[in-house]
Amino acid sequence: MEWVNWSGSQRCTPARFVTPRTREELAQAIVEGPAPVRVAGAGHSFSGGVATEGTLISLDLLARVLDADAASGLVRVEAGIRLHQLSQELHARGLAMPNLGDIDAQSLAGALSTGTHGTGTQFPNLAAQVESVELILADGSERIVRERDLLRAARVSLGALGVIAAVTIRCVPAFKLRIVDRPEPLDAVLGSLQERADAHDHFEFWAFPHADAALVRTLDETDAKVARPSRAGAYTSDVLMDNHAFRAVSEVAKRFPSQIPRLNRFMSSVASQRERVDWSYRVFASQRLVRFEEMEYALPRERAVEAVLAAKVALERHPVSFPIELRFSAADDALLSPAHERESTFVAVHVFRSMAYEAAFRDVEAALGELGGRPHWGKRSFLGAAELAPRYPRWDAFQAFRHELDPEGRFANAWVRNVLG
Ligand SMILES: Cc1cc2nc3c(=O)[nH]c(=O)nc-3n(C[C@H](O)[C@H](O)[C@H](O)COP(=O)(O)OP(=O)(O)OC[C@H]3O[C@@H](n4cnc5c(N)ncnc54)[C@H](O)[C@@H]3O)c2cc1C
Repeated sequence: MEWVNWSGSQRCTPARFVTPRTREELAQAIVEGPAPVRVAGAGHSFSGGVATEGTLISLDLLARVLDADAASGLVRVEAGIRLHQLSQELHARGLAMPNLGDIDAQSLAGALSTGTHGTGTQFPNLAAQVESVELILADGSERIVRERDLLRAARVSLGALGVIAAVTIRCVPAFKLRIVDRPEPLDAVLGSLQERADAHDHFEFWAFPHADAALVRTLDETDAKVARPSRAGAYTSDVLMDNHAFRAVSEVAKRFPSQIPRLNRFMSSVASQRERVDWSYRVFASQRLVRFEEMEYALPRERAVEAVLAAKVALERHPVSFPIELRFSAADDALLSPAHERESTFVAVHVFRSMAYEAAFRDVEAALGELGGRPHWGKRSFLGAAELAPRYPRWDAFQAFRHELDPEGRFANAWVRNVLG
């Protein structure tokens, strides 16, 4: 059976594909299956974390909420649950994830393992919510990780320590958000970027190469009543404008790359102001129907403006019709978190699925590397362990845990060997 990721750029044919129904079956698959042993979450990574010629495990049947305490916000949940299902289960209990990325299709463990984040200067990545991790190790034994140092390794672990069977996460009371989208001149946004980021719970923007407008999105907690556009209105704005119209323009860009500057200016100019109020999980995530390839870098927060401009200059040397996305994140203490112990800004670049991306991404990677960037583990990067190690002050501590928990490298596929050594 062939496995393919969301963007279509990663694929593999594992010797064994297992969908365990119990922890015992999971442990058996890990011990008995041919190495490397990897887990496929929702396949939404652009990097090679899932691919194996050995054993591929799906946790789709280990996806239940096991326990939820509304008073403390602690929720114990199996690792295969998708974020959209988790959000609905939490909402039914009066709880919510404090922050989410811009989609909720990922599995919980998949999102945690690569350091998936949303935006907001006061909000660290999703893995920072994790209070304990239930790991199944290479010998099939179970280890419940609560002690601080190992937990810092297990929160963002690239699937290199073992298979996460369940986690306990700290959630917050359900809350509503007001979302406002509006176009603004890019110069004005960059001129007061840090203040704007601090002025909102969640702040981000998109800026097209060759255009001078930014599409700014802010989200703020509110007690206001839910105010959604009509179903038809929502379909028109979210699906047709954000996806189908965008796909049509992207197809034109692919056929006529010389027209990309003009098309990008057109896309920036048609954006209009939109606003709605809804429960948080219905606001954070959007549908992404247009497929693309992505690279994303975490940089020190204070380098945000330089980073956007450097990425824009690099992209404008290539036929790229997709916008740059800029977000913020609080620091966290996971050993391999791209926001490890530094407040961060995240700069993401995208290329339409069937267009060449490597040359553009290499240029962006070189520019953002010079500014102290660390690549997102779930997205494209061309770096290996030798370049990555100096960017992580606690790299050796992670490697020591890896050596202790997976001494024979059963979980090390080609990508893990490349990025971790
Ligand atoms: C359209 C789109 C939008 C995105 N938006 C964002 C965003 O807003 N913010 C952001 O930070 N990222 C974003 N991403 C990236 C995405 O969140 C990450 O790549 C995430 O890891 C994908 O989760 P998944 O369940 O698909 O995991 P997969 O891609 O299937 O797996 C990711 C890694 O986790 C490992 N893994 C999965 N489950 C387990 C387990 N149980 N135990 C051990 N290892 C495991 C896999 O082996 C692999 O190495 C986006 C991706 C796409 C395609």
